[in-house]
Amino acid sequence: MAKQIVITCIFLVLIAACAHKPYSSTNKQYKKQAKAFAKLLREYPLKDSVGLQYPDGWVGTTNFSMRRPNFVVIHHTAQNSCDETLKTFTLTRTQVSAHYVICRDGTVHHMLNDLLRAHHAGVSKWGNATDLNSMSIGIEIDNNGSEPFTDAQMNSLLLLLDRLKRAYNIPQANFIGHADVAPGRKVDPSRYFSWKTLAENGFGYWYDTTNVNVALNFNPVQALRIIGYNISKPEIAIESYKIHFVPQDTTKTINDADKKILWDLAKKYQ
Ligand SMILES: [Zn+2]
Repeated sequence: MAKQIVITCIFLVLIAACAHKPYSSTNKQYKKQAKAFAKLLREYPLKDSVGLQYPDGWVGTTNFSMRRPNFVVIHHTAQNSCDETLKTFTLTRTQVSAHYVICRDGTVHHMLNDLLRAHHAGVSKWGNATDLNSMSIGIEIDNNGSEPFTDAQMNSLLLLLDRLKRAYNIPQANFIGHADVAPGRKVDPSRYFSWKTLAENGFGYWYDTTNVNVALNFNPVQALRIIGYNISKPEIAIESYKIHFVPQDTTKTINDADKKILWDLAKKYQ
């Protein structure tokens, strides 16, 4: 009888432990995957995708470090809760992820080592960069896309950006949104997101058109290209520019005020 009670107790403790750690099995998967990459990094002679034939007597250099992220791409999750997003990012069939998720209460989940590649940007282009996933940190903010971001989220975001900027020496111009790098395909973070607040804190630039005189031959679409936008389809580049810099304007046309803004921004981003 005593034995049965002990077994029942152990069983209940195990159930309780599992209930408190719903991600223990996916965390194991993370470790397994990280271990496989570590093994790949330890291998020599080198085995990488280039597949060169090495002469006898392989020589490895002694001077190296890990590649570092050089951009930050900000998203909204378009989901209704952090729990929903954590679940999405731990289901292998979704194949999507981010380094960080910021919940409505300001909690920051760090889901992937900064030095590894998350799947958040997809097909993307900014300036000459075409594989943003390989060179950026992805930050997802828990927000359904049609509501304001919370103060707690913005505070957590600013602290996180400050750490990332210092740790990896990320240039001020390289803090951008998903809509910026995937115009026409993505609209996040939404018009509720304050890029002005970010710029005031040193992440991305904002404009001041007080003393701006636009040259007669000024080409606003070329200015969009200088800032970083993919202008192969100008109309959708303009849409992404408006979401970021003129959120109150839902048109897709460049007016005189935009020309002033773009003139000023092109000088800052060039
Ligand atoms: Zn996104």
